[in-house]
Amino acid sequence: MVGNVLVGVRTPQWAALCLGILAFITAQTASAADCPGHPGALGTSRTLVVDPKEHPRIGSMQYAETLPLRDHEVVLTFDDGPLPRNSNQVLDILAAQCVKATFFIIGNMAQAAPEGVRKLRDAGHSIGTHTQNHPSRMNRMSIERARQEIDDGIASVKTALGDDTALAPFFRIPGLSRTEAVEHYLASQGIQIWSADFPADDWHHISSSRVYDIAIKRLEANGRGILLLHDIQARTVAALPRILRELKARGYRIVHVVPATPEQPATPTEPQQWQLHPPSETVAISHWPKIPNFVFASAEMLPGPALSDLDWRQGQSMTLAEASDHAGRPGGRVPLPREAPWPRQSSLAPGGAANVLPVPAQSIFEIQERPGAATQELATPSHHAELPVPTERETEGLAKLISVDASESPGTIPVPVEAQ
Ligand SMILES: [Zn+2]
Repeated sequence: MVGNVLVGVRTPQWAALCLGILAFITAQTASAADCPGHPGALGTSRTLVVDPKEHPRIGSMQYAETLPLRDHEVVLTFDDGPLPRNSNQVLDILAAQCVKATFFIIGNMAQAAPEGVRKLRDAGHSIGTHTQNHPSRMNRMSIERARQEIDDGIASVKTALGDDTALAPFFRIPGLSRTEAVEHYLASQGIQIWSADFPADDWHHISSSRVYDIAIKRLEANGRGILLLHDIQARTVAALPRILRELKARGYRIVHVVPATPEQPATPTEPQQWQLHPPSETVAISHWPKIPNFVFASAEMLPGPALSDLDWRQGQSMTLAEASDHAGRPGGRVPLPREAPWPRQSSLAPGGAANVLPVPAQSIFEIQERPGAATQELATPSHHAELPVPTERETEGLAKLISVDASESPGTIPVPVEAQ
């Protein structure tokens, strides 16, 4: 009888609320249950199956579409590995939280550490590619050379895996230096280009706590999205446990993205779910720039990040906008932001170096930390403030340097001479 009375007074809204709570509890329980030995783990809340042919370009930093994530859903991506010393730690950290991510592998890194690529597969992460040599100016390459970089990178990763099926048709352009020709080629191959929704600037010489701050701040500004990180960076290794704990504390959920196959069709979605989202439900979508929605394009109306966070120089915006016209941006389709989303140089960079850089960036990713310096950072966090930014000549050979250095002890890595 009591039950009947209660049912009688419940409104449909109450029933919906109860169902929602039940679904939430079920999801939480599922996450914990899926992570034996780690009852407080963040977990992976769901797997999103995507069809690269239907959505060939994603990531609101550069494109009209991004992944169809719900509020408070996050996709973790890691570039430039594997560098065993740091990448293996990233794997351990993700495993402890039962979090699945997507890794964009450099071909020559896969050649240097093929077991590192297989570890990704064995851990159930998605594996995409990131060219063979991580060219710093892919947007200035001939399409023939760019195709070679793409193809060689894929071949190297497949060789490392020894299994074609383990490689996802996902690709991230080094430095996000897109061109139409590269995009068309990748689309013709059925490969999905992953830009991102926000980075955490972890390739810069900043502290791990700064990486954490930036990641959380930008995620909160967006409310959801694809976070770009680098598993080769010691500061990212140091920041990641805290980032994951904070995601859990703030109610974020991790989504694992995999490519559709004949056996596993794409997750049903509506076209509008792939369109840009406002950074939060409190910002009217009509006020949100159509393309792109990255925070730099409209920092004045967002809670963060602020331009001052990004080591940008205000005076560069015109130069960058002009440069974008020469970078092959498709007219009338996806205009570049007034200020390109990628920091072109840090405040540590030699003066004037960025004035001739193409959009969106050429040196940002290539200012990658040498493994030796990565170790130094953990010991003396402030030391990097005094380190010179690598010259272009140094950065061009960096991917190779990293692969060579991967097998060496930190003590054998020479500190570069002062930038010229
Ligand atoms: Zn990269």
